[in-house]
Amino acid sequence: MRTVVTGAAGFIGSHLSRALLDRGDEVVGLDNLLTGSLDNVADIFGRSGFSFVDYDVTNFVHIAGPVDAVLHFASPASPKDYLEHPIKTLKVGSLGTHKTLGLAKDKGARYLLASTSEVYGDPQVHPQTEDYWGHVNPVGPRGVYDEAKRFAEAMAMAYHRYHGVDVRIVRIFNTYGPGMRPSDGRVVSNFLVQALDGKPLTVYGDGNQTRSFCYVDDEVRGIIALLDSDYVGPVNVGNPNEFTVRDLAGLVLEVTGSPSEIVHEPLPVDDPAVRRPDISLARRVLGWEPAVELREGLARTAEYFRRGLGAPGG
Ligand code: UDP
Repeated sequence: MRTVVTGAAGFIGSHLSRALLDRGDEVVGLDNLLTGSLDNVADIFGRSGFSFVDYDVTNFVHIAGPVDAVLHFASPASPKDYLEHPIKTLKVGSLGTHKTLGLAKDKGARYLLASTSEVYGDPQVHPQTEDYWGHVNPVGPRGVYDEAKRFAEAMAMAYHRYHGVDVRIVRIFNTYGPGMRPSDGRVVSNFLVQALDGKPLTVYGDGNQTRSFCYVDDEVRGIIALLDSDYVGPVNVGNPNEFTVRDLAGLVLEVTGSPSEIVHEPLPVDDPAVRRPDISLARRVLGWEPAVELREGLARTAEYFRRGLGAPGG
């Protein structure tokens, strides 16, 4: 297999590229390094079968030679990042999806879109099943990410129906693990870095909002199972164990042994009150489910931040 991965220097994209190389695929990684980092691919740079192009996939994408699969993982994905880059987020989700679908069509390649639990917005159905259409504020600040990904799903399905492109859509729920930027602003990286620095953990709002956190190795295994499957249409790939943000803060303090206190900061606009994937479909069609418990995953991620492997200052 010769696979193109966009966002290859990003958090999930780099883990995915490594896993594909490990199974013998050739990987062409594209990334414009807006939120990704070459540090994430430093260990695979010299590997045979890996090539990297610093490229913005909102422009026409040309890859010489045969391509068997195109995996579109380029996008800012942390709320902090997409609020800082609203137009670029909209462009990579819309134009970037269009260009990469065009590449897949041209090459006769399978296409896998990295979508998100954000397509469900602040959900009124809980846990979220793939047939739920979501509750998104299109004009709110988070709309730049949510609507770009919703458009991307619509575009992928249109290329499937109109051009016969073989598409897969993974709806990724909160994912964490080594390779996250220490300052990417997401709750797991924020809490771990704060705890390790002995600084207060910043809980937004009352901390009763929930998320369901998936360790990156589990997530990548699910994504590859979907890529290899015959299932067309969105599939939730996430860990169904749900925690309040306050619970997460407590667990981070326990795992790190940190004396940090907890402080409260304002809840961001349109912050979803709950989030938890229903993974019945993934279990059925992929035979997939996550294996790493949050405590274990947090310990591994804390170790990564402790060793200072994250890019300084993120
Ligand atoms: N959050 C928090 N403190 C932080 C960062 C985030 O309490 O320092 C909260 C945030 O308000 C949200 C949850 O943690 O309710 C998850 O936020 P994150 O940015 O990781 O991703 P989201 O799931 O909102 O996309």
